[in-house]
Amino acid sequence: MAVMKEFKAESKRLLEMMINSIYTQREIFLRELISNASDAIDKMYYKALSEEGLTFNKEDYFIKITPDKDKRTLTISDTGIGMTQEELETNLGVIAKSGSLAFKTENELKDGHNIIGQFGVGFYSAFMVADEVTVISKAWGSDQAYKWQSKGADGYTIEPCEKETVGTDIILQIKPNTEEDQYDEYLETYRLRAIVKKYSDFIRYPIKMDMKTS
Ligand code: ADP
Ligand code: MG
Repeated sequence: MAVMKEFKAESKRLLEMMINSIYTQREIFLRELISNASDAIDKMYYKALSEEGLTFNKEDYFIKITPDKDKRTLTISDTGIGMTQEELETNLGVIAKSGSLAFKTENELKDGHNIIGQFGVGFYSAFMVADEVTVISKAWGSDQAYKWQSKGADGYTIEPCEKETVGTDIILQIKPNTEEDQYDEYLETYRLRAIVKKYSDFIRYPIKMDMKTS
């Protein structure tokens, strides 16, 4: 068993806000994850520009969205630069690197509505729709892949795992429906396609959608 680590206080606060987010905000999680995937591919692109012997073959770089209704998972995969064990730790264990949260007053933070609309809230927005998030990543230039996993504010684990290719898979265990809240829509291709069109139309890399028929 991997050791459970705690989030930093700031991160925990944002996480809790995400977990309790209001309905109309939730769909932006996909925008955030696609934006991160695109950034990761950008990093490969720039690496290829600066590094001799490395070429960027356009067809090798894409983002893939895979809903699986049976497992209730939604996977966002990219063939970007990936993350090492250390990067998983520092990038996903700590939030508000951009500092946007630091400028917010306590009251503005309580009113999660504002901040989610105004800022890129980033990776943790996954917890608006998922009760468990698994990140499987293999960094460029590394032989070993790692798995980061968290059920929310309690903390996260990191352990070695298998992954053939360089890049990152973000696997969301979509929350069960409750009387008040519906999450099934995030497993529906037509709905996902609409969210992609609404927020991620400008992304420079192909966004593919796969239906898992298991
Ligand atoms: P931001 O994108 O503003 O830096 P996020 O919370 O969205 O903040 O992401 C935190 C960091 O985690 C990113 O800066 C990046 O280093 C890393 N990261 C997140 N998703 C990926 C991914 N798919 N591939 C590689 N790195 C990622
Ligand atoms: Mg981001």
